Amino acid sequence: MKKQPVRIAIWGFGAMGSGMAKMILNKQGFDIVGVVDTYEGFVGKSIFSFLNTQNPYTHDVFIERNIDRILLEESVDLVLLATDSFTKKAFPKIKQIIESGVNVISTAEEMAFPMAKEPELSKEMDYLAKKHNATILGTGVNPGMMMDLLAICISGVMSDVENMKISRINSLSPFGPTVMEEQGVGLTKQSFEDKMAHGEISGHVGFIESTHMIANALGLKVQSFEQNMAPIITSVDRKSKYGFAKANDVAGVDMRSHAILSNQTKIDMIHPQQIEPEMEGTQTGDYIQIEGTPAIHLSNVPEVEGGIGTIAICVNMIPHVINAKPGLKTMIDLPVPRAIMGDVRTMIDEEE
Ligand code: NAD
Repeated sequence: MKKQPVRIAIWGFGAMGSGMAKMILNKQGFDIVGVVDTYEGFVGKSIFSFLNTQNPYTHDVFIERNIDRILLEESVDLVLLATDSFTKKAFPKIKQIIESGVNVISTAEEMAFPMAKEPELSKEMDYLAKKHNATILGTGVNPGMMMDLLAICISGVMSDVENMKISRINSLSPFGPTVMEEQGVGLTKQSFEDKMAHGEISGHVGFIESTHMIANALGLKVQSFEQNMAPIITSVDRKSKYGFAKANDVAGVDMRSHAILSNQTKIDMIHPQQIEPEMEGTQTGDYIQIEGTPAIHLSNVPEVEGGIGTIAICVNMIPHVINAKPGLKTMIDLPVPRAIMGDVRTMIDEEE
């Protein structure tokens, strides 16, 4: 058991980073020792006034513009990095953290299985992490759990896995302006199609990472992979906190992928995401169907909400990342995720 509190820094204080801070403040055995965000409206502010919560510590935490001082002076155990979606963009930040000998958990979707799209950067991250005695993990609700790890875990009670169909029908309503823009919410169909043709609609990032994670866990390779996206057109006006789509415009994106693995197993992923799905009778949910012995049909209705799911899994993986051997890890390398309900220090193997 670790005697001192687990010292956490948070890099990126948006919806995910600030949510992680709130969760950590309600847990025992943690100490938030630094927060970084470049947004001018945040810099210099106390996180406690920002979160409108009491300060349980004997020190304040002011949001800083860069992480240099924190890595140098605060003996950080782990950085929660919540700034990016893509490995290439997260890489320089991850590099700086691990070169300081500090562990990192990234919310970047591609970091959930970075070997899928960035094999060279993955090798470099693994090399640097081992050299500097640090551990790197990418995780989140999806990719990271609902469309990959959960299917992998349940395959543990199967003697034979055949085709998989994994669906996540979710609501975009809790998300902010960045997500609305990335998903094309509120655009006309024509403008969505124009932007899609120019690669300006990101849709869901993560199918290829989830597919590779599953294949790797099953001891197989991905032989072919394709994905596509289509606009979800609403027939009624829909309004969420940050999004608005009028009738006949785009309320979200329907993403699909199809992969064939080296033994001809097929993995299909279905992920329609939109604001206010209930307005047209769409019920959110997570579904995993695996053919094989025995066949598995898991269903969770409504969906695990993406925001809290990501915040929780990142915080809950902190002790496992601190305990892990150095290197680049994925969710299939670390112990089973679980909610931290007691003092986190009891989950840390030993004082470093
Ligand atoms: P957000 O836009 O609300 O917050 C990001 C914050 O990072 C902003 O406050 C921004 O100012 C700050 N930031 C960006 N670049 C920075 C830099 N170089 N230095 C310091 N601060 C910087 O986004 P969010 O909802 O918090 O999500 C964060 C990332 O995590 C997104 O890319 C999102 O797609 C991803 N994500 C992944 C999952 C998953 O399941 N894997 C789930 C949720 C979010």
